[in-house]
Amino acid sequence: MDVNVAIVGAGQAGIATSYHLRQLGVEHVVLEAGRVAETWRSRRWDSFCLVTPNWSVQLPGGAYDGAEPDGFMNKPELVAHFQRWADSFAAPVRERCTVTALDADGNAFALATSDGRIEARTVVIATGGYQRAYRPANAAQLPDSIDQLLTEEYSCPDALEPGNVLIVGSGQSGCQIAEELHESGRKVFLSCGRAPWAPRRLAGRDLVWWIVQSGWWARPPSALPSPQARLFSNPLATGHGGGRDMHLRTLHAAGIELVGRFLGVEAGKAGFADDLSQSVDAGDNMSRVFKKSVDAAAEKMGMPSPWEMPEPFRIQSRTELDLAAEGIKTVIWSTGYRPDYGWVHFPLFDDMGFPMQVDGRSSVPGLYFMGVHFQRKGQSAVLYGVGEDAEIVARHIAENRT
Ligand SMILES: Cc1cc2nc3c(=O)[nH]c(=O)nc-3n(C[C@H](O)[C@H](O)[C@H](O)COP(=O)(O)OP(=O)(O)OC[C@H]3O[C@@H](n4cnc5c(N)ncnc54)[C@H](O)[C@@H]3O)c2cc1C
Repeated sequence: MDVNVAIVGAGQAGIATSYHLRQLGVEHVVLEAGRVAETWRSRRWDSFCLVTPNWSVQLPGGAYDGAEPDGFMNKPELVAHFQRWADSFAAPVRERCTVTALDADGNAFALATSDGRIEARTVVIATGGYQRAYRPANAAQLPDSIDQLLTEEYSCPDALEPGNVLIVGSGQSGCQIAEELHESGRKVFLSCGRAPWAPRRLAGRDLVWWIVQSGWWARPPSALPSPQARLFSNPLATGHGGGRDMHLRTLHAAGIELVGRFLGVEAGKAGFADDLSQSVDAGDNMSRVFKKSVDAAAEKMGMPSPWEMPEPFRIQSRTELDLAAEGIKTVIWSTGYRPDYGWVHFPLFDDMGFPMQVDGRSSVPGLYFMGVHFQRKGQSAVLYGVGEDAEIVARHIAENRT
């Protein structure tokens, strides 16, 4: 098959690019390993709902227009929204077509796919910001008697072995799953890392409203303290229950046992660093950086600071848990994601595996990326901001077609 433009991935980044190419009259196809919005369909737990409010779903040609702009779509609602959006302009998606290799072929690109070879003059790689779930090496030390699963393999409390649960990783997903399992009546231990948090509402406005108003999402990659900061967690909060605060202080108050960083397992005992206070302090410090932006935005609006930081969080935490004695039957790894572009056979990736690109353009003419964390701005990989990048990439493709 010979195509003009092949977009790989039919998530928000791929469909947004398709939308803009359609507007510009550029013929293209979207190759998708699963179905439209596959990541939201199959890699999120059953009760998943957005952390960002519905009004912030600003997909091009697919902005939220339902009855609850301040609500938080659940998984079926979000998948239905995506499907309606793709159908609304007949996005040319070829579903169940996995791209296994991308190579140069003369002046074109050769894509090896589960549907056979495809040749394309232009390729847009939109395979997701959260590609390969990261499981630390010391996970291998867990005894076989313990069930282990990744966040994306977790579905609901009833699907787990009866017993208590250790969750390793305290980003948005780890904290939300900890809360759900605790509410289902299980004893939950949460091994914590460093994550910022913020109140769900500030001066009567949603956190995401402040993120937008303060320009937090408009920050370019150069505003990050280090390249590693691309892997930092988003601020802890939840959309469950209509949206509310959720962070280490609320989880501790609810009865979830917080421990430090997971170190490994020896003789049936899981060890944890004695670093809970430092991790919470580090999260608080990241929150303070965000708070400065919020305070500056409030000042411009003639308002006082809408957010007081609490006292430092200090509790005694255990550094060892006897897995059998604590009745821990399941460990959930909620330890983040890493880029995974192994099938792209071009030397275009930095030492963390992120594509090197400018406004989505790689140094190989005709090869683009979409949906990369901080591709252009903090908003590049979220439902609010992906459309801006998609328009820039699509315009460049349209202007440079031969
Ligand atoms: C747990 C979690 C919660 C999030 N919650 C929010 C939120 O509340 N609000 C928000 O704005 N953002 C949220 N995000 C961030 C972001 O919106 C999502 O990560 C979103 O899925 C990114 O869209 P994408 O199109 O870049 O990638 P994806 O949605 O992952 O889409 C990539 C697509 O590419 C396909 N694909 C991958 N490899 C291949 C291949 N080789 N061949 C063919 N197809 C392939 C996949 O099947 C997939 O459909 C969340 C992220 C996570 C991980």
